Amino acid sequence: MTSAYDVVVIGAGIVGSAIARELAGHDLSVALVEARRDVGDGTSKANTAILHTGFDAKPGTLESRLVSRGYHLLSDYAEHTGIPIERTEAILVAWDREQLDALPGLQEKAEANGYHQCEIVDAASVYAAVPNLGPGALGGLTVPGESIICTWTVNLALATDAVNRGATVLTDHRIVGVGLDRELTTLHTGTGESVAARWVVNAAGLGADHVDGLFGHHRFTVTPRRGELIVYDKLARALVDKIVLPVPTARGKGVLISPTIYGNVMLGPTSEDLQDRTATGTSQAGLEFLLAKGRALMPRLLEEEVTATYAGLRAAIDHGDYLIEADPAQRYLLVGGIRSTGLTAGMAVAEYVRDQLAAAGLALRPRTALPDPPRMPNLGEAFPRPFQQAELIAADPAYGRVVCFCERVTEGRSATRADRSSHPPRSTDSGDAPGP
Ligand SMILES: Cc1cc2nc3c(=O)[nH]c(=O)nc-3n(C[C@H](O)[C@H](O)[C@H](O)COP(=O)(O)OP(=O)(O)OC[C@H]3O[C@@H](n4cnc5c(N)ncnc54)[C@H](O)[C@@H]3O)c2cc1C
Repeated sequence: MTSAYDVVVIGAGIVGSAIARELAGHDLSVALVEARRDVGDGTSKANTAILHTGFDAKPGTLESRLVSRGYHLLSDYAEHTGIPIERTEAILVAWDREQLDALPGLQEKAEANGYHQCEIVDAASVYAAVPNLGPGALGGLTVPGESIICTWTVNLALATDAVNRGATVLTDHRIVGVGLDRELTTLHTGTGESVAARWVVNAAGLGADHVDGLFGHHRFTVTPRRGELIVYDKLARALVDKIVLPVPTARGKGVLISPTIYGNVMLGPTSEDLQDRTATGTSQAGLEFLLAKGRALMPRLLEEEVTATYAGLRAAIDHGDYLIEADPAQRYLLVGGIRSTGLTAGMAVAEYVRDQLAAAGLALRPRTALPDPPRMPNLGEAFPRPFQQAELIAADPAYGRVVCFCERVTEGRSATRADRSSHPPRSTDSGDAPGP
């Protein structure tokens, strides 16, 4: 048994890392416990990396509230930490009469979600905004606030910040059993080691229902909903500088075309319910489906080279909203169903969890002095990269030595986390589900 913590957060994705950071801002001992070898190695590394305004959320839901709040929190945090973010805007395009007729309803929905910047535009304006769009667009809805962001840097910044605030990160700690006692909960790991906690937060993403079961609950089931994506070469970036959205359906947000923060263009994601929670490989059928969509949306994009394909698994649940519930008797809180908006909402989920824990009886005293948030190295193509910064190179010539010529990673940058970070990398392996 290692030491006992006031709070143990299970799962070091964006949501768990944001919660650990938030709680570590209080007079508490906090541990962030992760099954995998590194933080941010689950769904948080393989998504579409859009900072959503929440314009299309279901009004009145917890998700709508937290996405909208998370949008502002993460925008602000990105500014303070250097997480790369680009204010690209989005345009939602209607391709048939039915979709065109749906635009006023979508605008009303955005208003109901507190987002008042959407405008309905005609076909000419759509083509003026995205000249390379395929033929047949009938009109659109602008969403000026939608932005692109680096999901990896978000996760890493939150986990690093949590560590700087005193939290302990325990990787390679998969929770496989729970022992409940009056004072302490014992979390048993796959290696035989255990971690003791006064309070436990379950932010295990795709594994949240299994962990919930260990506490004796049977309230939901996670269905992994795979989203496959195609990433095009940086030369394609000139084709599109906005996020091109489809009209959403009951199954989700649909297939989009978006610039990436790294200077590429992506097409996707698909939406397919699976059984296997580890199935992060791409499929021939998924990629063919995307190519057919892409051919109609932007034929010129298909002439560009494909750099990569990847897939991520949304933690879809049989419940129409985020499922965040505290059990004061067990000193336990579940964070479930953070399906397709958790990158955006993570920091707001953390605030909400903090308040739920306080209401359930956890004593929270904010720390008087907190360290500054970490300054993250820039991975975004739209901002000066280390190899372009003469001052940085003068201070440390390693920033002038390029070790990866495709992505122009310098020796200084590749050493950044290993040598200087409070949360050094556990592996240089990009894993089985590379992100955008
Ligand atoms: C294709 C796709 C596109 C998306 N696009 C967007 C987008 O554009 N914008 C947006 O805001 N959101 C988007 N999302 C959603 C977003 O990526 C997720 O909501 C978010 O990453 C969820 O974070 P998380 O921390 O809950 O889960 P995860 O990142 O999966 O973290 C959960 C962690 O818990 C660990 N774990 C599980 N079981 C255990 C256990 N028993 N013991 C210890 N650890 C455990 C896992 O290893 C994992 O690291 C998208 C998702 C997908 C799949």
